[in-house]
Amino acid sequence: MYALTPRCHLPPLRRPSSPAPCQAATTTTPSLSTTPSRAAADELRSTWPQRAWTAAGSAAILSSLGTSASLVASGASPAAAPLAAALAAYSLADLATGVYHWLVDNYGDASTPLWGPQIAAFQGHHRYPSTITLRDPCNNLHALARAVALALVPVDAAISAAGGGGAAAAHAFAGTFAACVVLSQQFHAWAHEKRRRLPPGVEALQGAGVLVSRAQHAAHHRAPYDSNYCIVSGMWNGVLDRYRVFEVLETVVYLRTGVRPRSWDETDVSWMEVDTAVGAVADGPDDDDNDDEATGAR
Ligand SMILES: [Zn+2]
Ligand SMILES: [Zn+2]
Repeated sequence: MYALTPRCHLPPLRRPSSPAPCQAATTTTPSLSTTPSRAAADELRSTWPQRAWTAAGSAAILSSLGTSASLVASGASPAAAPLAAALAAYSLADLATGVYHWLVDNYGDASTPLWGPQIAAFQGHHRYPSTITLRDPCNNLHALARAVALALVPVDAAISAAGGGGAAAAHAFAGTFAACVVLSQQFHAWAHEKRRRLPPGVEALQGAGVLVSRAQHAAHHRAPYDSNYCIVSGMWNGVLDRYRVFEVLETVVYLRTGVRPRSWDETDVSWMEVDTAVGAVADGPDDDDNDDEATGAR
């Protein structure tokens, strides 16, 4: 066991210097044998159920956005309201991915009910970050697409049932939010990709701040592993990290429950990339001269 010294720097919220005796989430350094293993090649390919869930989620999103467009076309709503709603959804989806990413990076493990596979995937991503660039699209997107497929249909039905002048904006918000959440994993993958391998236009969108940039996300994969959680545009990362919002939340959780976030344990090897020489993001944004990345499964 090593020293457990929280890193909170907020004067009014002092973290205890030692964990509660039986409630610490992570009180010992996990051995390498308990950390995630490298994905096998066949785990990176899309399966037919993954394609089906991705198609179902995409259909729900297109239905929502199509309903909004048809309401505008029929004159039931001016175009400005759905456009404003879509922009708000794009912004809030970035915040939502940050909160979710912070939760699954820091709390729970593979045995956690319902969220275990997602938690294992996110925490394992820190050991093998460039694996995400090797996944087939549906393999990467299917989990979020399934959540959207199951949640968006009833939400859209409720919006349509409520009707009213705000229906077009509400459909636009729901559809855009869902689309950004599903695609956040693709944006995340591009944040790990070598610049020369990015699809045309993606680097420009990253540079403009429309999509989360490689440089910004690289900071998430460096010690102390407690910043830059947002993975749509990254527009919320600055304010969340500047005001230490997640540190405050972690302190509140700890003081109320005794559960420590994984990011407080700086020597936890499960955060560290296995081989930084071949990891895309750990090399930083200007690494294209030495980016002969491994192409096998990671
Ligand atoms: Zn993470
Ligand atoms: Zn990442």
